Amino acid sequence: MSVDALPPLREVIASHGLKADKRFGQHFLMDLNLTAKIARLCGDMSEATVFEVGPGPGGLTRALLSEGAGEVIAVEKDSRFLTALEDINTASGGRLSVVEADALKVTEAEIDGKFATRMLASNLPYNVGTALLIKWLTAEPVWWTRLVLMFQKEVAERVVASVGDAQYGRLAILTAAAASPRYAFTLPARAFTPPPKVDSAVVVIDPLPADKRFADLDALSIVTESAFGQRRKTLRKSLGVAAGKAATSSEALLEAAGIEPSARAETIDPAGFMRLAEAWRAAKG
Ligand code: SAM
Repeated sequence: MSVDALPPLREVIASHGLKADKRFGQHFLMDLNLTAKIARLCGDMSEATVFEVGPGPGGLTRALLSEGAGEVIAVEKDSRFLTALEDINTASGGRLSVVEADALKVTEAEIDGKFATRMLASNLPYNVGTALLIKWLTAEPVWWTRLVLMFQKEVAERVVASVGDAQYGRLAILTAAAASPRYAFTLPARAFTPPPKVDSAVVVIDPLPADKRFADLDALSIVTESAFGQRRKTLRKSLGVAAGKAATSSEALLEAAGIEPSARAETIDPAGFMRLAEAWRAAKG
């Protein structure tokens, strides 16, 4: 049997009693055109291990395998899906393995896979999407060659935002320091079963080459958390928390980074925040 010959997802969900559980952010994507469109954003997967967080009943999983993924390793927290996923594994000729775990606690680089090239494709659970993205962006060494991620639309817009956009903030800066993101397409809430309250969107994220990646993402995370924690205040005020952690003052950090103390966080581009992070690290010692 091939993956495409498996029974329709609706049938699998009904026969295994896989009703969506809100606690796990479960909204299933059943439309084969949409799952194939997402899978194709991975590019050539034939020599790749593709991680998927939250396969659920396996709509996107099937698409990844049917679009030619060399191997899929799916991380799922809800054990109810394991039998349905085992059927997909059999139909795919053993190309799927499932890790029953909380994706936030998994270190992907430590999981054995068949291929050195590793990517990740996922229709992310809303409640942990941002935390997972930050985990993958800051992972050392960088283990992925591409992330294809579906978020709620508003989060996707925050990932790709540039300075001057209303959605610009910490997520855009951390992403820009480690990767180049692109907004691929929007999916209306009605594409899912059950439909969530908001629309979703897919973002494709490629890592920056090693020499372009900002070296101190931890410092950048601390500085941006402080600056955007009180985004309407001037940086002289809002950087106080970060400055305190390095036993220095906001003024000293801003002067070292060449930024006006009266500026607000939302007007400073990622390069400015990287200078601030360097100043913070130098002060911290
Ligand atoms: N991939 C399926 C699809 O596209 O139809 C389901 C996507 S659904 C939005 C999110 C999935 O993530 C669910 O299967 C849920 O059980 C799983 N999940 C939620 N939190 C998780 C976590 N912390 N770790 C791993 N899986 C999680």
